[in-house]
Amino acid sequence: MTAIDPAVEAHLEATRAARLESYFEFLRIPSISALPEHGPDMVRAAEWIVGELTRMGFEHAEVSPTPWHPIVYADWLHAPGAPTVLVYCHYDVQPVDPIELWETAPFDPFVKDGRVVGRGAADDKGQLHMHLKAAEALFATRGRLPLNLRIVFEGEEESTSVSLPGWLAANRARLGADVVVISDTGFHEGNLPAITESLRGILYTQIDVAVGPIDLHSGSYGGAVENPANALARIISELKDRDGVVQVPGFYDDVRPLDEATRTRMAALPFDEEAFRSRISAPALAGETGYTVLEREGARPTLDVNGIWGGFQGHGEKTIIPAHAHAKVSMRLVADQDPEVLWPKFRDYVLQVAPPGVTVEVSKLGSGRPSATPVDHPVVRAAASAIEATFGRPPFFRRNGGSIPVAATFEETLGLTVVLMGFANPDSNAHAPNETMVLDNYETGIRTICLLWDRLGANGLGG
Ligand SMILES: [Zn+2]
Repeated sequence: MTAIDPAVEAHLEATRAARLESYFEFLRIPSISALPEHGPDMVRAAEWIVGELTRMGFEHAEVSPTPWHPIVYADWLHAPGAPTVLVYCHYDVQPVDPIELWETAPFDPFVKDGRVVGRGAADDKGQLHMHLKAAEALFATRGRLPLNLRIVFEGEEESTSVSLPGWLAANRARLGADVVVISDTGFHEGNLPAITESLRGILYTQIDVAVGPIDLHSGSYGGAVENPANALARIISELKDRDGVVQVPGFYDDVRPLDEATRTRMAALPFDEEAFRSRISAPALAGETGYTVLEREGARPTLDVNGIWGGFQGHGEKTIIPAHAHAKVSMRLVADQDPEVLWPKFRDYVLQVAPPGVTVEVSKLGSGRPSATPVDHPVVRAAASAIEATFGRPPFFRRNGGSIPVAATFEETLGLTVVLMGFANPDSNAHAPNETMVLDNYETGIRTICLLWDRLGANGLGG
């Protein structure tokens, strides 16, 4: 069974009820980063965490100011020769709308069917709290930690982490570590333990096509001028071919090819394609030829129109050549694609395929880099074996089609490998009403963290 230190286990067992009460106390603080009226709650949540960190034995615990919501920092660095791990979680949560779909008040947590229900239960206050309680158990039983820990808990993750890159850059000198562990991801379908090995990046753009300042009579001008909506459709049709291959020159230049080991690992993931299809009621699945659905969704880049508009949208007929037409186009990127490198290639290609007779503007609305962690990294291997020892089965390795931009921020700013060890149940309703965290994931995950710190402390990064 678990190889966790019996003294730590005894402490965790004896403090179970108090731990749940503390978890609830933390969840009751409505730390919604996006809404200005919750500014004081953000400070209150940060101060609450600092109080906990200080009480259990961390040093230099502080509510560190940023231009917006504060970052919580603390460290404990008295394990010479042992690795230093920087732990990242976030204490802010998403707004609760639509409030009428919540079964109870979002900031009044309770336990139902073995799950904690409440905003932030899983994303990410619950997982932050797991790290607090794991460290507390180690401090309480031994007066020390088995390795060196730095804590960086952010308050803007749900609001695009505006301040974090600047804060990391400004504090780089005091953030020396061997690895970053982020707990803000989840298990695989069926609540099977999983480690996320990569995240996609993004490049988000808008295309604006115009023929003039006003709509034109399609009888008087049709056939004599280019139509912006037709032109936009032509541009979009040039972006991907019928096999789903993006046509922007150089788009795939930096894509890491999927090696056999990765494809085998991905094929081992339990995945019901038909259930996936019927859940979204799509008539069929589609995508790049030559890749499985999971590969297309997690390990290959994509290009999608997210919105398209222009011209007459009302009932009946209106015979115009619209003055302008628009589309939002985004690309999900994989390692080692760089949105800054791709952006001019995309812009130039759109301008090149645009028909004459219209003006075309291409703008970049946002971007974030992809990130990938080698599965043979010693901390990934140690995390996998700690998960196996505590949850009773080895984790699957997942490629997440979404983005957690902070992962790439840590990689770039601090030059550190990021390990994504998250414990949320996949049906946690993160960002949605009735968010939940399976209590067993929470409790067992705390033991996983204790065991991982113990093993990294004892064995170092050599394994
Ligand atoms: Zn999160």
